[in-house]
Amino acid sequence: MQVARRIQGLSAAIFSEMDDLGKELRAAGVDVINLSVGSPDRSPALHIQQALIEAIREPGIFNYALAEGLPEFKQAVADWYRQRFGVLLDPEREVLSLMGSQDGLAHVYLAYLNPGEVALVPDPGYPIYSAGVVLAEGTIHPLPLLKENGFLPDLGAVPVEVAQRARIMVINYPNNPVAATADLDFFRAVVQFARKYEIIVCHDVAYSELAYDGYRPPSFLEAKGAKEVGVEFHSLSKTYNMAGCRCAFVVGNAEILDGLRVIKSNIDFGVFRAVQKAGIAALHGSQEAVEINARVYQRRRDILVRGLSSLGWPVPSPKASMFIWTPLPAGWRSSREFVWELARRTGVLFVPGVAFGPRGEGYVRIALVGSEQRLEEVVRRIGNSFDFS
Ligand SMILES: *Cc1c(COP(=O)(O)O)cnc(C)c1O
Repeated sequence: MQVARRIQGLSAAIFSEMDDLGKELRAAGVDVINLSVGSPDRSPALHIQQALIEAIREPGIFNYALAEGLPEFKQAVADWYRQRFGVLLDPEREVLSLMGSQDGLAHVYLAYLNPGEVALVPDPGYPIYSAGVVLAEGTIHPLPLLKENGFLPDLGAVPVEVAQRARIMVINYPNNPVAATADLDFFRAVVQFARKYEIIVCHDVAYSELAYDGYRPPSFLEAKGAKEVGVEFHSLSKTYNMAGCRCAFVVGNAEILDGLRVIKSNIDFGVFRAVQKAGIAALHGSQEAVEINARVYQRRRDILVRGLSSLGWPVPSPKASMFIWTPLPAGWRSSREFVWELARRTGVLFVPGVAFGPRGEGYVRIALVGSEQRLEEVVRRIGNSFDFS
């Protein structure tokens, strides 16, 4: 079957590749520990589960939802933003519900990028940022995330003629995969850059609530003028362990949201209303479980950072996100080779950094999605199978 050209530009998603490797090992009797996919392994708080159970008994709840999102859901989002970030939003015009932020990040280009127009996308980056550009038949200009710049894009290094042609840029802090954070000064510089070249900024803030040691990541919308140039995507997937529910939202510039709304109203009929009600319970309810969640991930981080470092593989300790992003151990150059060898020797799955873009080569991403015992087991197995000294 002849597929459309735009499909040929999509790489087979690394996660299905890792999944296949895991299946192969399991079939061979290996006890696989899969730290490749960043899918939360914990459950939503009980009050969220309860809201979902109650909602599915309401008459009419299984009807099509409004594409827009329930007014109460959008209000809950605006309330949460005010409380968490001090950012004021008009729930009617400045909030849009999404079937996962993946939905919004995939479709925003269809609304704002004509074929051949330029999008500035981080390298390494979360795969949908470039897949969305490919589907819209746009042109990707990578923004290298380099260690020497604190894994922030160097906006001054974007050639002027590229910046002038760019329509959209994506940023993501706390970052997946590089686990770096950004402060408001960086966001202010992005606002200036976006104003100067009339670029739409899309900030993905999926990990704002997974931060450690007391650190509180800011919203892009806290930067002065941000709402004039951009929107911010947030998801209930990580914050409330609701990844399978497909419930998220995008907030910010009302005009930018209008374009996305047009695309979405043609494609989908909105998030299942029972899920939106669970989302309201999550956003309006006690945030204690969110804090506990962050502490659980922090302990997991510490087990791997301490354990691997003690083996002679010094891995950096992230301030936020659910990942460790680390250079390969001494003596290894290819992230794919290392990850495959690691899987073969230990049954542990990480993601090769190069899967997130050429600038990811030389690194691996480790998702903190195993229990403390399992992560201790990871350290033990690596210690038994590799000599980093
Ligand atoms: C997990 C994740 C999301 C969330 O995606 P959903 O579609 O909302 O589940 C968004 N961005 C990044 C960078 C992520 O890692």
